[in-house]
Amino acid sequence: MAWLLLFSALAVVSPQATAEEIAILAGLAVVQLAAPRLAALETPKARNILIAVKLGLGFLLIGVTGGILSSYYPILLLPVVSAATTLGPGGTALVTVLGAAAYLVFLPIAASFGYPLLPETLREAALRVLFLPLVSFLTYQMAAENREQARRAQRSADDLAEANRRLSEAEETVRRTERLAALGQLTAGLAHELRNPLGTIRASAEMLGKRVAGGDAVAAELTSYIEGEVDRANTLVGRFLDFARPLRLRKSGVDVNALADRAAEALVREKAGRAGRIHKNFDPTVKIVEADPDLLERVLVNLILNALEASPDEATVTVKTRQTAEAVEITVLDRGQGVAPEHREQIFNPFFTTKPTGVGLGLAISARIVGEHGGAIRVDSEPGRGAAFTVSLPAVES
Ligand code: ADP
Repeated sequence: MAWLLLFSALAVVSPQATAEEIAILAGLAVVQLAAPRLAALETPKARNILIAVKLGLGFLLIGVTGGILSSYYPILLLPVVSAATTLGPGGTALVTVLGAAAYLVFLPIAASFGYPLLPETLREAALRVLFLPLVSFLTYQMAAENREQARRAQRSADDLAEANRRLSEAEETVRRTERLAALGQLTAGLAHELRNPLGTIRASAEMLGKRVAGGDAVAAELTSYIEGEVDRANTLVGRFLDFARPLRLRKSGVDVNALADRAAEALVREKAGRAGRIHKNFDPTVKIVEADPDLLERVLVNLILNALEASPDEATVTVKTRQTAEAVEITVLDRGQGVAPEHREQIFNPFFTTKPTGVGLGLAISARIVGEHGGAIRVDSEPGRGAAFTVSLPAVES
């Protein structure tokens, strides 16, 4: 709208505007209006063409309105400013020189028509032309500053997004650790309280069994049921206590690549038929971590075993290590069914399992071990396409 008004005003104030003059002004108005509206003109090539068109129309306009004496000489600022805001320093300089040439070329043309080139005319022409590099330089500087500011703003936005992501990850880890600690305490208390009554029930059932032995067959069978079920309950209580027992870390400097290799090999030996299915992708630059090698190996074995169990028969499981700015990461990746979004947190709870014969302690124990090492374990999964469990451990500065 503003452009239309400006170009119309130019046509109106111009004394004895000719048809060519108005046509060229209209052409310039169209170019100026269309450029920011058409997506097709966003490419660098289209932008260069537009600048060339503006330069050409400016040249024509000056040509039809008196050449070197034309009052339209500032029209050459249009291509120069466009170049300064969109091109690099070389392109801007080139367009500025071409703009100056498009004006100065009217000097020899005027001379060839016998127009006397007085010193005042030359001085005036030089002055007019000098405005082009002046405006060009100023605009280029401002545009460059703007671009730098936009870049800085983008960088801050990226940093902020990254910080946000880390914060929510850290929050998730803290929530999980608190939940596991509370569950651990509850479990330990309950299991401890159950031990004694279970012992009494077991002993009583045994005694009862001896009394009815040889007599009542049904009673004998019932007592053996009681004994069997109490044994099952006892095993479960044992597992609860196992889970709740405080971990004692025996830390030493651990080469994560060697450890991951050992865990993978242990599983290859155990599951001989599926030997070829573990693919190792180790980063040779990983630093040493301070960790309990046995516990950490248990974590990796758990993760690889889960990945193998989740994978279809011939699919490969990848064990990958990576050194990041502040941690060593070990990722176990599979192409199985993945983890449903509503299970993402639950899978770290003790006794949560979706497997018919699963116990549901693997990930809970793994999360506890990693937590005790000051690290974190996270899962990225697209349901139906696989899962990636990543353990990140703080690296020791060597
Ligand atoms: P368990 O293996 O005995 O079920 P875990 O604690 O190791 O116990 O795992 C808990 C649950 O997490 C599993 O039952 C399964 O639903 C889910 N899970 C673990 N690893 C994977 C995996 N790689 N892909 C899909 N689901 C997984």
